[in-house]
Amino acid sequence: MVVRSQPSNLRADVIVWQLIVWWLAGLLISPPVSAAVVKRSQMHMGTLVWVTAVAPDNTTAQRAAALALEEIKRLDQLLSTWIPTSEISRINAAAGRSPVHVSPETMEVLSSSLEIARLTDGAFNICVGPAVRAWDINAGGRIPSKDELEHLRPLVDLSQVILDHQLQTVFLAHPGMEVDIGGIGKGFAADRAVLAMQEAGATAGVVALSGDIKTFGRLPGGERFVFGIQHPRREPGRLLARLELENEAVSTAGDYQRYFIQHGIRYHHILDPATLRPARLTQSVTIIASEGTVADGLDTGIFVLGPTKGMALIEQLPEVEGVIVGHDGAVYVSTGLQNRLQLEPDIAPAYLAP
Ligand code: AMP
Ligand code: MG
Repeated sequence: MVVRSQPSNLRADVIVWQLIVWWLAGLLISPPVSAAVVKRSQMHMGTLVWVTAVAPDNTTAQRAAALALEEIKRLDQLLSTWIPTSEISRINAAAGRSPVHVSPETMEVLSSSLEIARLTDGAFNICVGPAVRAWDINAGGRIPSKDELEHLRPLVDLSQVILDHQLQTVFLAHPGMEVDIGGIGKGFAADRAVLAMQEAGATAGVVALSGDIKTFGRLPGGERFVFGIQHPRREPGRLLARLELENEAVSTAGDYQRYFIQHGIRYHHILDPATLRPARLTQSVTIIASEGTVADGLDTGIFVLGPTKGMALIEQLPEVEGVIVGHDGAVYVSTGLQNRLQLEPDIAPAYLAP
């Protein structure tokens, strides 16, 4: 088990899993004879990772769950900025000096990041790390001066992230630049962990890293996995809506996960790359997509874009759905979710002007 002093999002785990665990608990009381359900959890990527594997027999389910956790641990060793020997740390250490040869996994997560940056018009930006640090959100928080933020601006220029797919190298052209895949890496890890479970013979399962979840198949009784979306302004465990998932990933970005409040103003961990200040248009974004990488990258980018531009992007992308809670608490639901999402009885959806 890997335990580091990195901050974690345990609250989000509790919320998401309350529903899924509740669902599974019912099954375990009277499990169908033909299927085994195994649940395991470990600390990885700075958070509690939950894995559920469904397989024809217990040995296969146990093995699938173990392999999923091993895969996440392996990816953490490649991608973490908290591990000095990781490939991402080596890319950052060589900024302004030399390209670094990396594994296909690192190359893939970085190219997906640049693709999401393109889709969101730069709202998703894996170079905001130095600015995130300047706000010190994880250790009590501070408000950096305008000058300090302006000084960091050359470091968040995405055009200076140079991927060479032929040589499989990554080069950060400006000294002092850093890449941080915190906004997309958990979704990527969930995708890869699901592949590991499927290769091991699991017929269904769930991988959840904090608010990033990927499911495949159905529960042994034929039910879909149930997922709850946390209400961004109510206490942990109070839901905004619930949703059944099948072969889908879901990811939530919210301003309630890591933040500090000063003089009544909430400062949180998702920065608008245009201002290098916490994004102001949104309380939370939940994205449903077939890939965890897409769901995770888009939730962060769309959080920055806000309800109007964000919902327009969701509607434009096939196989992507979402729920956006605006800064004023208005709840917007994408077209494809309107018949699927069960909003809590006291919540009414809002509509954007056409
Ligand atoms: P998520 O929980 O998926 O919304 O990701 C939040 C994390 O992404 C933060 O803790 C930062 O490490 C990073 N981040 C913050 N702002 C951005 C942004 N605009 N684009 C990409 N990553 C970001
Ligand atoms: Mg994200």
